[in-house]
Amino acid sequence: MAGNGIKIIDAHTHVQFEQYDKDRDDVVARSLAEGVGMINAGADLKSSKDAVDLAHKYENGVWAAVGIHPTEPKDFDKLEEVEKLATDPKVVGIGECGLDYAHFVREQSGWKQNGAPAIAAGNGGFVDVKKEKDLQKEIFEKHIEFSRKYKKPLVIHCREAFADTIDALTVNKNNLLPEPGILHFFTGTIDDAKRLLDLNFSFTFGGLITFNRSFDDVLKFIPLEKILVETDAPFVTPVPNRGKRNEPAFIVSTAKELAKIKSISFEDASETVFKNTIRVFNLSI
Ligand SMILES: [Zn+2]
Repeated sequence: MAGNGIKIIDAHTHVQFEQYDKDRDDVVARSLAEGVGMINAGADLKSSKDAVDLAHKYENGVWAAVGIHPTEPKDFDKLEEVEKLATDPKVVGIGECGLDYAHFVREQSGWKQNGAPAIAAGNGGFVDVKKEKDLQKEIFEKHIEFSRKYKKPLVIHCREAFADTIDALTVNKNNLLPEPGILHFFTGTIDDAKRLLDLNFSFTFGGLITFNRSFDDVLKFIPLEKILVETDAPFVTPVPNRGKRNEPAFIVSTAKELAKIKSISFEDASETVFKNTIRVFNLSI
C-alpha cells in the first residue's frame, strides 16, 4: 500500500501559510524525504486556494482540505468559491470548519456594551455572541452539506463548543458520510469522544500530547483505529523541537508518544495511523 516511500501522513497541517514563504519547497521536500505525507487545511478562501495549488505541485503525498474556519467571518460569504475548490481531485477533505467559542470567553472579559455580553469583532465592531454562534452554526452546516455532496470527509475544528458541535452533527446525521471525518486537535472529554464515535468520527492529535499529560486518558479510551496524527504546523511544535517553528517532518515524535501512551510499538502505532488516514480521507497512494 505504501507507494512512493510514504509511511505516515500529517493529517492536518498548514504548510501553505506565510510562515513558510521563504522555504516552503524545502519543508515539503524534507517531509517527503522522511516518508511523511501531508494534508494542508485551509482556514479561509486564500489559504484554501493556496493549499490546493501546493498539492498540485507534487505528484503524490501532498493533499488539501478546503473550508472557512469559524473565526474567519470575513470569508463567511465566500462559500460558493470554497465549493468550487471542493471539486478538485487533490481536495480530500472539507474544512477547517466547525464552532469556536473560545475566543468569546477571552474577548468578553474586556468587552461589555450597555451591560450586554458583546465581543470585539475582527473589524473593530461589536458582535452579539448569540448572533455569532448562530452564524458559525449556519456556516458549519454548509460545510456538512458540501461533505455529503462531494463525498469528502469533514475536518472539524471545535473549541469549547463540543455540545453544540455534536448537536449540529447529530441533527445533520443524514448528511454525514459513512466515514464522516475527523475532529482535528481533539480537546474534548471521554464523553464527547463516545458521542462522536457513535457517529463514526475519527480524531487527530498533535504535538500537545508530547508535553501535556491531560490527553492520556482520552487517548487510552479512543480505539487506535480511530486515531490519526497531525502537526497543525506552524503551531504547537512537539517535544523535542519546542521553541522551533513546527513542520510535518516532526510528526514522528507525536506518533512515538502515541505508541508510548497506548503501550504498543512505534511501528504498530505508525502503521495503524497511516492506514487510518488513508481510510478516512480515501487517499490513493
Ligand atoms: Zn489547523
